[in-house]
Amino acid sequence: MSYIGRFAPSPTGPLHEGSLLTALASYLEAKKHQGLWLVRIEDLDQPRCDQAHETAILNALEAYGLCWDQRVLRQTDRIKRYEDLCQSLIEKQQAYQCSCSRTDLKSRHALQHYDRYCLLHPNQKQPAAIRLKVEKSLAFKDRLAGHQAIPAEGISDFILYRRDGIVAYQLAVVLDDYEQGVTDIVRGSDLLLETHKQRALQLSLDYPLLEYAHLPLVLAEDGQKLSKQTFATALPTQPEAIIRQLKKAMVRLGQIDETCDTPIDVEGFITFATEVWDIKKVPKVIKNS
Ligand code: GLU
Repeated sequence: MSYIGRFAPSPTGPLHEGSLLTALASYLEAKKHQGLWLVRIEDLDQPRCDQAHETAILNALEAYGLCWDQRVLRQTDRIKRYEDLCQSLIEKQQAYQCSCSRTDLKSRHALQHYDRYCLLHPNQKQPAAIRLKVEKSLAFKDRLAGHQAIPAEGISDFILYRRDGIVAYQLAVVLDDYEQGVTDIVRGSDLLLETHKQRALQLSLDYPLLEYAHLPLVLAEDGQKLSKQTFATALPTQPEAIIRQLKKAMVRLGQIDETCDTPIDVEGFITFATEVWDIKKVPKVIKNS
C-alpha cells in the first residue's frame, strides 16, 4: 500500500468540531490516494483518558461515515514495545538517563534547551528520565504549513521516558507510525513543533521519514483562538445534524461553499466529499463560522 494515513485521538473528551476537521481531512486525503486510513487511540496520559470517551469517539467516527481500516490500535496495549525500544536506544548509546529535576534545569537555564548535563556527567541517580541524544535533524516541507526550518538553537535532547516512568508521546507516536506502516500524517498544527522531535527520533532509528500536512487552527471571527469550551462539546448524532456538521467541516476546509448542494445521506456525503477533496484548497487560516 503506497499511502497509509491515520487519525490518532486522545480519549480525553468526545469527538468535537475541531477533531472532526482532523479526522475528516486525514480520511479524505487517504481515500483520495486510494490508501488506508487507520485509527489509533492515544491513551498514555491515563489520568486524563477515559474508556467512555474512547467508545464515544469510535461511535461518532462511524456515525459520521469515517470507517477505519484494520483494527484500532490502543497505546496502553503497547507499553512493553515502547520500553523495549527505549532500552535498545540506551544500549546503542543513542539515549541516556537524566536525573535533573525541574529546579536543576531552571537554575542552569536548561528548561527549554537541555544542556546535556547528564550525558556529560553520567550518574545512576533515581528517579531519572530517559532523553534522546539528538544527533541529526533536517528541515522539511509541510504540505500545508510550508518550509519548516530547524530552530536556530537546534533540537534539544528531548524526553522519551518521563521520570515517573510514563512513556513520552514522541516515542510512542514514532514507533506506532512506523509499525503501522504510516506514510502520511494529516493533523492539527498544534503539533507542528513536535514534528522536528519526531523526525529526529525517526532519523536515529533509521525509520523512513514521513510526509506531513498540518491543518491550520480554527480561529474565532476576531482572529483569536477559540475557547476550549467551543471544542469540548460532543458532536450531534441525529442524521440531519451529522450532514450539517460534515458540510460545515468541508466549508471550513475550503472544499465547498455554504450554498453547495450535497447528498443528504452520510455515505453519499462522504463519497461526494472524497470526489471533491483537494488538500491544496485548505485555507491558511480557518475562521469559525
Ligand atoms: N493524540 C494527539 C492528539 O489527540 C494527536 C497525535 C498525532 O496526531 O500525532 O492531539
